[in-house]
Amino acid sequence: MTTTEYRQFIGGDWTGASGGATFEDLDPYSGEVLAKAAAGTREDARRAVEAASAAFPAWSQTPPAERQRIFLAAADILDRRADEVVGLLTRETGCCAYGFGMFQMGFVPGLLRQAAALAYSPLGQILPSDLPGTMAMGLRRPVGVVGAIFPWNAALILSARGIAAPLALGNTVVAKPSEESPFVGGLLWGEIFAEAGLPDGVLNVVTHAPGEAGPIGQELVENPAVRRINFTGSTTTGRKLAEAAGRHLKRMVLELGGDNPLLVLDDADLDYAVDASAFGAYLHQGQICMSARRLLVDRRIADAYLDRLAAKTAGLKVGDPAEAGTVIGPLINQAALDNVERRVRDAVAGGAKVLAGGERVGRCFQATLLADVPPDSELARVETFGPVATVEVVDGPEQAVARANDTAYGLAAGILTGDPDRGLALADQLQAGIVHVNDQPVGDEPQMPFGGVKDSGWGRFGGQAAVDEFTELKWVTVQSGTHPFPF
Ligand code: ADP
Repeated sequence: MTTTEYRQFIGGDWTGASGGATFEDLDPYSGEVLAKAAAGTREDARRAVEAASAAFPAWSQTPPAERQRIFLAAADILDRRADEVVGLLTRETGCCAYGFGMFQMGFVPGLLRQAAALAYSPLGQILPSDLPGTMAMGLRRPVGVVGAIFPWNAALILSARGIAAPLALGNTVVAKPSEESPFVGGLLWGEIFAEAGLPDGVLNVVTHAPGEAGPIGQELVENPAVRRINFTGSTTTGRKLAEAAGRHLKRMVLELGGDNPLLVLDDADLDYAVDASAFGAYLHQGQICMSARRLLVDRRIADAYLDRLAAKTAGLKVGDPAEAGTVIGPLINQAALDNVERRVRDAVAGGAKVLAGGERVGRCFQATLLADVPPDSELARVETFGPVATVEVVDGPEQAVARANDTAYGLAAGILTGDPDRGLALADQLQAGIVHVNDQPVGDEPQMPFGGVKDSGWGRFGGQAAVDEFTELKWVTVQSGTHPFPF
């Protein structure tokens, strides 16, 4: 059997790593080697930035209609490859084919079609000037080369969103997927956009071996040709990159971790609350930045809610993500599995009660519901990327809000209540970039301003917010006559 080999996409060419090295792209469920991928280096990243810089002048002047055509074609190509892409998402990232795989595949063509419209979105301004004869304008111009770094967890969505708006707005891009998803979270876009007719060098994709992201990130931060960076990933890495980018006065969009609360108020519909909680906590094994990790339930309904949620959680099927009916597939790698197991064990040793799950099954970890988690345990303090939700019983909405805000993070939150007005008033008090009333925290639409506050990052992906992130507003004046100067 010949092993598939993935090459990098630089300047329109499919190319191996500068040092010739490769690494193994693994299936997290079976452990099988799916492909060998180029173990790119800082030199490869530098070449990619050069290619992107060279392509920028022409691409930034390309008429919006042509950019739009390319994005609409890319969406059609992705649709045509839907079954293959769902299969690849399942095999490369372990997401359930009939769950998060199909969800991503349903989402991304729409994201590309909305990006097609973004080509026409950067509206400028005519500004009132106090100088007679002066025409003053605010012009929106593309910024140049954008560095884009993505994680593996929602590989298709997060890679698409990191490149689509920057490209549609006339920038060129150097993309760096995670080592866990070099193809479906990166190189796939090289294939799709090349077929759609994107000119050479406008999009470049550099891959690297596990643990070798640093030098590529460094090149993107330090190379003066890169004018913006968007990063989706952990708070730890995002903080490191933001510190370095600060030294170079380089603006970033940072979408980082979350320890997202779901408030279950006393007037919530119980069946709906149970379904919403399980979905929010366990979709994609809880490996979503928006996953509901802390369930804050009002004491008046806590017993009934917890009984039903524990039963539902215990019944979620664990196993092969390619099989219909599986809800809980594998965690992304052995380190992630060990980490989740250790944190659960530590919490239990410290007094936490297991209401459901709590054990590993092969490369998977059962959907797990814990109560009485010690506040000083790692599980209570740090985002844990796995199918583990903690429950806390609260007395009334004020206490729920106080507990919800008692975290360093601030990405997404949900408030389950039968009273929309009550929900809206509480939404205002939550320290989060995203709040859903009468829904759980996991959700996205391409046109929404997506991002967090506090340690969850800054900047917004999505819709008009992306126009601000990936264009420069330039003040230009035209003086129609002459005017006197004081000397
Ligand atoms: P996760 O735990 O979700 O994988 P990471 O922050 O480790 O989060 O990874 C998100 C992205 O950041 C991946 O593409 C990863 O390769 C990349 N990354 C990790 N370390 C660095 C670094 N030092 N510089 C640049 N990118 C990095």
